Amino acid sequence: MKTIQAYRFALDLTPAQERAVLAHAGAARVAHNWALARVKAVMDQRAAERTYGVPDDQLTPSLGWTLPALRKAWNSAKREVAPWWPECSKEAFNTGLDALARALKNWSDSRAGKRAGRPVGFPRFTSRRRTTPSVRFTTGTIRVEPDRTHVTLPRLGRLKLHESARKLARRLDAGTARILSATVRRDGGRWHVAFCAEVERAERHPTRPHATVGVDVGITHLAVLSTGELVPNPRHLDTASRRMRRLARRLSRRVGPDRRTGQQPSNRWRHAQTRLARAHARVANLRRDGLHQLTTRLTAAYGTVVVEDLNVAGMLRNRRLARHIADAGLAELHRQLGYKTGWNGGRLLTADRWYPSSKTCSGCGTVKAKLALSEREYQCEACGLTLDRDLNAARNLAALAAQIDTAGSGPAAGRGADRQTRPGGQVAVKRQPGTATADQTGTVPPQGGTTDHTLARAH
Ligand SMILES: [Zn+2]
Repeated sequence: MKTIQAYRFALDLTPAQERAVLAHAGAARVAHNWALARVKAVMDQRAAERTYGVPDDQLTPSLGWTLPALRKAWNSAKREVAPWWPECSKEAFNTGLDALARALKNWSDSRAGKRAGRPVGFPRFTSRRRTTPSVRFTTGTIRVEPDRTHVTLPRLGRLKLHESARKLARRLDAGTARILSATVRRDGGRWHVAFCAEVERAERHPTRPHATVGVDVGITHLAVLSTGELVPNPRHLDTASRRMRRLARRLSRRVGPDRRTGQQPSNRWRHAQTRLARAHARVANLRRDGLHQLTTRLTAAYGTVVVEDLNVAGMLRNRRLARHIADAGLAELHRQLGYKTGWNGGRLLTADRWYPSSKTCSGCGTVKAKLALSEREYQCEACGLTLDRDLNAARNLAALAAQIDTAGSGPAAGRGADRQTRPGGQVAVKRQPGTATADQTGTVPPQGGTTDHTLARAH
């Protein structure tokens, strides 16, 4: 099975190397902003000409929005725009132009209704302060050194890794991976290099192909499984979260930037800001690591994993930190389960957003009208069942999988069934990227993520 996979390693850059990377990231920004200004100028010019009644064939020729076209325009102008251009790798300018080409395509697709999801705005100029410095190399010398603690990139040369690259190096040595690109980027106050690689993975099967597990992401726990297992939060997460909140309070007492008054941030604010960003990154890393261990374990064992759908609208609205973290955890859980079930030959089922997994009794099926978030125990008035709230939800999710299986295709034939209606009123809808209709016939998406169903409720 061929997959595209990323391997990310932390870097230990020397000050000179850091300056070189920042210069490349700056070059990417210059190319991006120059090309965007050109695109805008040509668009405005053509619009003005149209108002004067210039016929379409005599308008100023429009600028191509593809990467090759933008690159050609840049190459003919770079001597004037950026006389220092030979100091940076051409890949730096390519990084910025590629980002712009994709942004323009997303915008035009979105306007033409060819793109799912929320409307995409017109690309904006990037500023040094707002953007994450990053540069991507696709050609030239990109390699992991034999000592596995250094990497070599074009122009930047030999960079020291903060951790061993053995996982990628082993695959490269065995010939089961091929590096497609390398991106150097600063996130969470630390530099990383991410290798995008084409990896040949061995076929795997879950140890219990017919078993199902429901997963509910919690706040006090990392997750609750329908088997009754409470997966605890990663160690040190509480300490790290407390520290994060303390640093956030400290930041709010410092003099920050204010656009209305033109107030510049104080050095003490900048310092506090850096420390808070690092604390945030640590909390995110701890959670991600915990989720990775959980999803690897689940997809290796269970043939079917059932999770709730993401409530994207709710995620954007709710500003409470605990809820926000739980939502972010759910999004990450989805992402990891999505590709890991593909790798392990299992399947991921997603309960519809409106499926009341928390409000339904896992014993008798009664649905409560209301259940406050503060009620941690589920108590059923109909059958008297008393159960942990999250465990009840997890059991309901696991039961959903059994419902679609008995209603039609069965676990082995999970790919075929696109729409099934049952007496219970549940409809299983095959989820298609970019489409929302229930009658679409499923095709096999790349990376083997074939078995992604959404369970919707019939009216
Ligand atoms: Zn009940």
